Amino acid sequence: MTFTATRVDHLSQLAPGTWCPVKTSGGKRTAAFCCPNGHKLALTAHAILPTGQAFVTADVVSKETEVGLLIGTVPSVSCPKCEFYDSVVLKGW
Ligand SMILES: [Zn+2]
Repeated sequence: MTFTATRVDHLSQLAPGTWCPVKTSGGKRTAAFCCPNGHKLALTAHAILPTGQAFVTADVVSKETEVGLLIGTVPSVSCPKCEFYDSVVLKGW
């Protein structure tokens, strides 16, 4: 399964199933994501493809040939506060 998150432009608008572009303190572009149960988390341990597909490690993304195999087969985001665990695509990334 793939979960598609809808983009919002401000953290104040972050609602279940949406994401918002943010930057880490180091300036890295990443996303704040709100799981379907309303828990907000920052995808700081993730690498995000131009397509918006989020991966847990940068190592995976660096291997271009393996990305196609992994998309849709590996759940990429797990919520620490509930059972949400899915392959997440950030629509509008
Ligand atoms: Zn959750």
